[in-house]
Amino acid sequence: MFICTVKDQGCTWSKTLYSRDIIVFTFSYAFELSSTSLEQIIFWLRVEYLALPFIPVFLLLMCIEYIGQRIKKVWQYALFIIPFITIFLHYTNDLHHLYYKSMELRSDSPFPIIKLVGGPWFYVQSLFLFLCVMISIIILLKQVKKSSFRFRMQISMMVAGLLIPIMANYYYINGLSSYGIDLGPVSMSITFIFHGAALLTFQMFNVAPIARETVFESMKEGVIVLNQQGLIVDYNHGMRKVIPMLGEHSIGKSITSVLNGNYHLSEIIELKQDSDFNCSLNGKLVHYHIGFSTVLNKSNLPIGQIITFTNVTERVLMLEKLKQLASLDGLTQILNRTFFIYESEMLFDALSMEGGSVSVIMFDIDHFKDVNDTFGHEAGDAVITLVANTAKEHIREGDLLGRYGGEEFIICLPDTALDTAYELADIIRKKVSESIAVVNEEKISVTCSFGVTHVLIKAGDRSQSIKTLMPRADQALYAAKKNGRNCVKIIA
Ligand code: GH3
Ligand code: MG
Ligand code: MG
Repeated sequence: MFICTVKDQGCTWSKTLYSRDIIVFTFSYAFELSSTSLEQIIFWLRVEYLALPFIPVFLLLMCIEYIGQRIKKVWQYALFIIPFITIFLHYTNDLHHLYYKSMELRSDSPFPIIKLVGGPWFYVQSLFLFLCVMISIIILLKQVKKSSFRFRMQISMMVAGLLIPIMANYYYINGLSSYGIDLGPVSMSITFIFHGAALLTFQMFNVAPIARETVFESMKEGVIVLNQQGLIVDYNHGMRKVIPMLGEHSIGKSITSVLNGNYHLSEIIELKQDSDFNCSLNGKLVHYHIGFSTVLNKSNLPIGQIITFTNVTERVLMLEKLKQLASLDGLTQILNRTFFIYESEMLFDALSMEGGSVSVIMFDIDHFKDVNDTFGHEAGDAVITLVANTAKEHIREGDLLGRYGGEEFIICLPDTALDTAYELADIIRKKVSESIAVVNEEKISVTCSFGVTHVLIKAGDRSQSIKTLMPRADQALYAAKKNGRNCVKIIA
């Protein structure tokens, strides 16, 4: 959508026909002025009238199209009725004199100028032209208020261009022009210069009908357009959320100077590679995906960049939530078995690079079956949660705690000596034995048995993994159960 705004828009049909008719009209009027006989003047006048009656129609249609509106086909055709009647009456004027009452050469001018006395239809056509121009001016002026600065200059030039033929007509009709020269054609040429300038000079910014700007401005995505030198050519409202420093003054400035100090974003823009970007907006962390697309000219050469900032916060949060759901055990909110193994393997991988040590604690609730049998499954769940929470409270940041099975847990402790791991296991054992779960006014207390193991990993040794340690920890746990439960056993 936006590529159209930047690349040019090509002329719309009304703009093309409007331009063509003004050229035909202006040239034939130039020939009319240089004619030496009444016959020649009348000939060029007729050529002129092949274009003149349509100019106000195309002008009006162009302005309607410019503001992004459309009128029904039937009204478009209706607008051409008066111009066709004008042409018909102009060509057959000798038979009825409805367009010109008389046509004769002026005798008081230094060069041949035709003196035309308008008939009734001449005034109909003049009124029609006046109305079309006035409606066009009103349409454009109404649009000025709604438009951003970069369009205001363009619209103002269009309006200025339209005021000229109105003034010229006023002078001509009131007999104020020298030798009664019809200033209309000359003024139309000036109008065309104004309109050409409006459409071409401001091409950098606009080029597009305003409807496109409305779409551009209302886009959720922030969009900024840079030229090849990294200068800001355009941006939309959504972009100001990401870069609040952007303002009308930023147009034409380099993006790096506007981003003053935001090195991370400057770097992303410099690299021109799609990437993710986070920033804080009203105290909330917002995630953006930044996309780049190159603007090519007609010869397929790059002339700029369109950078799109898509707010992907919802998607990122959803992914985080999904990851959490997939990695955590629903009852205890500690890692499930699959994720515990996955995270522990990552940890072993990291440690195997430079070497280190890992301790593993495995523990199991004693006589848990009895809890279920005596107090019910719901009470059993509460006890499992209590044990998990007690362990969670005592592990350090970086330690991994997982639910290994029904009432069995596992802890992976990176860079931890065996005696430290033993101490931690014993603390958890003691805390669990001291805690009480209250379910349906019943007080339940349990104990746990612990198995601890340890490994030293040499730098580059990839033979060790959580899977080699788990059976040893399990053996130690089995030994603790055998030893009468509620104790910690080690297999080093
Ligand atoms: P030991 O001291 O030898 O470990 O005895 P135990 O009774 O704890 O061992 P056993 O493996 O015989 O029993 C474990 C019980 O845990 C069996 C199973 O029904 C129960 N269990 C497993 N998962 C859950 C759970 O999510 N909730 C509840 N309430 N019970 C569970
Ligand atoms: Mg058990
Ligand atoms: Mg068990």
